[in-house]
Amino acid sequence: MVEEKKIWKKCTEELSKVLSEKEMRTWINPLAVKYSESGIKLLAPNKFMKDEIEKKFMEQIMVVVGQVGTNMDVSLNVESIVKPEKTVEVPRGFRTNLNKDMNFDTFVEGKSNQLAKAACLSVINEPGMFNPLYIYGGVGLGKTHLLHSIGNQLDKENKRVVYLHSEKFVQNMVTALRNSQMDEFKKFYRNLDVLLIDDIQFFAGKERSQEEFFHTFNALFEYKKQVVLTCDKYPKEITGLEDRIKSRLVWGMNVCIDPPDLETRVAILQSKSDALGSPISTEVAFFLAKNINSNVRELEGNLRRVVATSRFKKCDITLEFTKETLADLLSLNQRMITIEQIQKVTANYYKTRVSDMLSSKRDKKITLPRHMAMALCKDLTNNSLPSIGDGFGGRDHTTVLHANKKIIKLKNEDSQIAQDYINIVHILNNG
Ligand code: ADP
Ligand code: MG
Repeated sequence: MVEEKKIWKKCTEELSKVLSEKEMRTWINPLAVKYSESGIKLLAPNKFMKDEIEKKFMEQIMVVVGQVGTNMDVSLNVESIVKPEKTVEVPRGFRTNLNKDMNFDTFVEGKSNQLAKAACLSVINEPGMFNPLYIYGGVGLGKTHLLHSIGNQLDKENKRVVYLHSEKFVQNMVTALRNSQMDEFKKFYRNLDVLLIDDIQFFAGKERSQEEFFHTFNALFEYKKQVVLTCDKYPKEITGLEDRIKSRLVWGMNVCIDPPDLETRVAILQSKSDALGSPISTEVAFFLAKNINSNVRELEGNLRRVVATSRFKKCDITLEFTKETLADLLSLNQRMITIEQIQKVTANYYKTRVSDMLSSKRDKKITLPRHMAMALCKDLTNNSLPSIGDGFGGRDHTTVLHANKKIIKLKNEDSQIAQDYINIVHILNNG
């Protein structure tokens, strides 16, 4: 029989014959071991690892323990959480990489980003509650803005918080590797209160970085430190990211940011134009919001263009002036989304026919798609109400108005319909 202290060592040797090097490195080597009256106590660094090991390897571990000639019991627990080293003062030269302009005050809330913002606020009030908080959505929808908002707020509260784009994280790691400073690298991250990492889709395919990130990230969880991540996709959809990381990501809270609806786009434009010192009229704001419906970055870019041109030419920002300034963009947009396209996509989405949508049929299966399509035409195209009415089998403009009101009401009352609206806009924008 093997001497007690060496049992686990022997077991790992046996396990390494049946498990891959990677499995050993990820799951088995991090286990600590204690021997007691009741048997061998294995200690996983966190609950996540414990659960995974239980599922995947526990049986093999038992077999191996039996093989090395002991009839000791094996148990698997989570190592009691080590108290973080008392974080003293924030060291000199400590960089948070935060952009002061991106904060909660400058973030305009709307239906599309409400949940994400609420989750960010709860992270500030109760760090560690959702860990990790994972914010995902298309480009230019405010993910980076929210990360900085969290960071700025926590920075005010003297928390150690760092914002990093995932590419920068990888760069820092490569530098640390090259200078044999991996220990300092790890220590730095593990001593943070909150780590904000942007655009983690960049980790996809970078094995070594994924591994280091995973360990850093687990260590932060251990210490109950908050991690907030953003990505352009839901974890399961990221290709080239290891499964164990994906499953870890879905553990905390996942919130999606959708493209802003018309009202929110208008509110964003008004807030940004005020901030630029050139407030625009509601008329101009609506015009811009209707014509630029993809994302906030574009909305902002075009607003800046209008404001800059107006200063340069010393003109007021009237509707005419705005149309002129953005003429190239507008003609492009008009080519892009038409009444016919909206009808086609909406009919398809609801599995009905365009001809029914244009007919006088009134059963519910057809009225919802019809109202939805009309509302979308009002929101997304430049057509007047009468011409939208015309496009729907010669209906009156009041019918279009009614349909639009109806959809606004339904979107507020029925989350499925709100989601339908978002989905159809998405299909229209992305083909
Ligand atoms: P993402 O990281 O999702 O690609 P960003 O956070 O970089 O998007 O947002 C793009 C631009 O739009 C930034 O200038 C940001 O400040 C602005 N922005 C996005 N959402 C909002 C919002 N809800 N309110 C105010 N500004 C916003
Ligand atoms: Mg971003």
